[in-house]
Amino acid sequence: MTISVRNEQAEAGTFEVRSPGNGDLVGSFPMHTDEDVAATVARARVAADWWAGLTFRERAERLDRFRGIIARRLAQLAGIMHEETGKPHSDAVLEASLSLDHIAWAAKHAPKVLGRRRAGVSLLTANQAASVEYRPLGVIGVIGPWNYPVFTPLGSIVYALAAGNAVVFKPSEFTPGTGSWLVDAFAQVVPEHPVFQLITGDGSTGAALCASGVNKMAFTGSTTTAKKVMASCAETLTPIVAECGGTDALLVDSDADLDAAADAAAWAGMANAGQSCIGTERVYVHTDVHDAFLEKLVTVARGQRAGTDPDATIGPITLPSQIETIRRHINDVLRRGGRAVLGGADAIDGSLVQPCVLTDVPEDSPAVTEETFGPMLTVSRVGDMDEAVKRTNATTYGLGAAVFSKKRGTEIADRLRCGMVAVNAVFNYPQLPSLPFGGVGDSGFGRIHGPDGLREFSFARSTARQRFTPPLALTTFGRTAKTDSLATKIMTLLHGRH
Ligand code: NAD
Repeated sequence: MTISVRNEQAEAGTFEVRSPGNGDLVGSFPMHTDEDVAATVARARVAADWWAGLTFRERAERLDRFRGIIARRLAQLAGIMHEETGKPHSDAVLEASLSLDHIAWAAKHAPKVLGRRRAGVSLLTANQAASVEYRPLGVIGVIGPWNYPVFTPLGSIVYALAAGNAVVFKPSEFTPGTGSWLVDAFAQVVPEHPVFQLITGDGSTGAALCASGVNKMAFTGSTTTAKKVMASCAETLTPIVAECGGTDALLVDSDADLDAAADAAAWAGMANAGQSCIGTERVYVHTDVHDAFLEKLVTVARGQRAGTDPDATIGPITLPSQIETIRRHINDVLRRGGRAVLGGADAIDGSLVQPCVLTDVPEDSPAVTEETFGPMLTVSRVGDMDEAVKRTNATTYGLGAAVFSKKRGTEIADRLRCGMVAVNAVFNYPQLPSLPFGGVGDSGFGRIHGPDGLREFSFARSTARQRFTPPLALTTFGRTAKTDSLATKIMTLLHGRH
């Protein structure tokens, strides 16, 4: 893969990061080995004990200060993100700023979601005081992608930290500088112990983290890599949360606000150069409004330009290998009778891909079935919304979706098989820290964000305290025939009529 090409020039034991826009050297980082990873995890274990010993309030106070640093230095952080991924600076600022609400939410809500609370008792267990609390797992390994190098990993990291865990973070080999910035900022507010540490490297370093015996892995990346992570973690029975890719659809009903739908489709499909896990890749439009929608979409998309200059609204494709995937998807569509209403084969120039809108695309085309990860949308006419739902659900992925409809938005949304749905908007659910984020099928399992995201990095601990000796003592060899008979009568009375 690309990293080895980069390493031909890099010093032994290091790798270089180059700007996807102009190839400039952005930085050089250590390629951490199995031993480095093991030592980091060992340090994290000590830190985890200390961090778990703090109160929720003490952890929240530190997370709040971490949030403050990010908020005050957004431009600096965004500068590194821009250099490493090529995304426009303003998009980088937006991404980093959207993580702030999550840090605040996780810190504030951890005590309520995870703290000890009473659990119910039944007639036969009325003598018990039952309670449950959610305890930290210990050390969480986080493996991140490059496309949202702040928002995405922090979605695991801050929830894991708020739940009382230490974190060892391996950012993508394309964005180690961004990861390093985050870890340094956290160390400023938590200087006592290395609660949040960085390891850098490619897949081999990630594999070492999977095998290191951490208490849980939070993986975000492709479905293919998630399977390798899961197989490796199986060796040590290390649980994982897998946040993978998708081929998200946007559905446009006949009564939709077409201006809003076109604007949203263009943004969800083309912002970040289309390199968004929850980015729209497919659009299904009711036949009554198909032509009007397409015209509006093309107008918005034509107004966008991929480039490396400050005025470009779309940055370069970050991963050099992705260009071939995008080219293959476009060529397949064109070869099989599809049309490029905007862009097409010549939209690709080096690492830049200009906006593409494709129609008459066969449903078994890779542009529909696979993640394209480029500023490209396929738009298909459907006879009714039943067909739109059916075609949306005909995928092995199931991450997110969006529905535009004035009257039936929620009704249509409810029929989609995916983890998250936006109605009359796009990308709104990740902005709501109270909502769990994640997918089904090939898009992964487990959840980050929200109460589920906090519980994902903890284990349920149950306590049942006997307050007084029960009149019917059941768990004793001294149980009498009379007790048995009475207990059976009570149970039959309680449950027998069902
Ligand atoms: P990737 O799978 O190539 O790499 C992800 C991470 O895994 C990197 O840090 C990489 O070094 C590491 N890795 C590679 N091989 C490994 C191995 N054998 N063991 C352990 N770690 C290994 O993905 P990517 O190209 O960085 O990211 C893009 C993908 O991520 C897309 O599919 C996108 O949809 C997905 N994504 C999903 C979400 C989500 O929340 N669901 C968010 C962002 C991106």
